[in-house]
Amino acid sequence: MLIQRIAVGEIKLPLKVPFKTALRTVTDVHDLVLIIETDTGHQGYGEAPATAVITGDLLGSMRAALALIAPRLLGRDLLDFNALLATVHQSVVHHSSLKAALEIALYDLRAQQFGVPLYQLLGGGTPRLKTDITISVNDSATMVQDCLRAVAEGFDALKIKVGGRTWREDVDSTLAIYRAVGPHVALRLDANQGWTPKQAVQVIQALEAAGVALEFVEQPVKAGDVAGLKFVTDHTLTPILADEAVFSVTDALHILATQSADIINIKLMKTGGISQAIEVANLTKRHHRTCMIGCMLESGISVTAAAHFAVAHADVVTLIDLDGPQLCQGSAITGGLNMDGPWISLSDAPGLGITAVHGLTDVQQY
Ligand code: MG
Repeated sequence: MLIQRIAVGEIKLPLKVPFKTALRTVTDVHDLVLIIETDTGHQGYGEAPATAVITGDLLGSMRAALALIAPRLLGRDLLDFNALLATVHQSVVHHSSLKAALEIALYDLRAQQFGVPLYQLLGGGTPRLKTDITISVNDSATMVQDCLRAVAEGFDALKIKVGGRTWREDVDSTLAIYRAVGPHVALRLDANQGWTPKQAVQVIQALEAAGVALEFVEQPVKAGDVAGLKFVTDHTLTPILADEAVFSVTDALHILATQSADIINIKLMKTGGISQAIEVANLTKRHHRTCMIGCMLESGISVTAAAHFAVAHADVVTLIDLDGPQLCQGSAITGGLNMDGPWISLSDAPGLGITAVHGLTDVQQY
């Protein structure tokens, strides 16, 4: 199976409601899509969003990096898989989202080559997951309304965006949500770096004192402030999750070794794809901690890949935050993951099980 052609294009899907965090407001998913074709007529699909404020990736910068990497992959054999991954990772530093899209397409092809769904290639498991759903940061009444709607749709875990306003407002809206949905809905707070370490401790201790049992608090402080993250972890009982603070295996090792967080959020767009996500998961397991699998504003292709990864590593990836396709109006793919309320299921079709992508624009070929 030789790599014959690499096509890159873009998909745009409007979001059902604007996505608002402490870092940004977004109204569309506008992602890069890769299709790697082989001499046997197989197609591997990959996807990457341009999450400028988190990964630094832009649609244009991903295309520029692809122009460097794509010619180095053409004509190569899928059986030389590790060498292909090395080319992806060693051709350029950073660019983790583009690397993820390339890896996803290559893993898709490799699983097709062996005639198995990707999760089986990665070690097997039960191809069914239950995800949370994101609630954007808004005034309390809107957030309560959004939470009640999500609970009515069957979600029993809500990822609530906070930060970027006064800490009192964060406490008040969380209390209002907790009172509205009750104690049986798991509440996950994501501050997206929106607090100082002391503010974070203030918010979390206030909620702990009020009897709100949060499942975890995600990335309370700036991505680079590992000492601040550890301060929050050391001064609260609520589990603390590192998201923007962990891209690479090296980042994860540092956070785990210094006990700066309790949980690691793996996103393929941060690790640069599946191979390093596996490394982070294994490392976390060795430190007796757990992971969440998350996504950026991604649609069906890369979230399908993340779901396959999570299924195969369910012993350590115990929290699922793969709501990207749920937030979009419509879908750009045929095949891939199936979503029914909070439930994600994967078919036993080879690879990612994606057979077509629709509405691709600005297509370029290598
Ligand atoms: Mg996050």
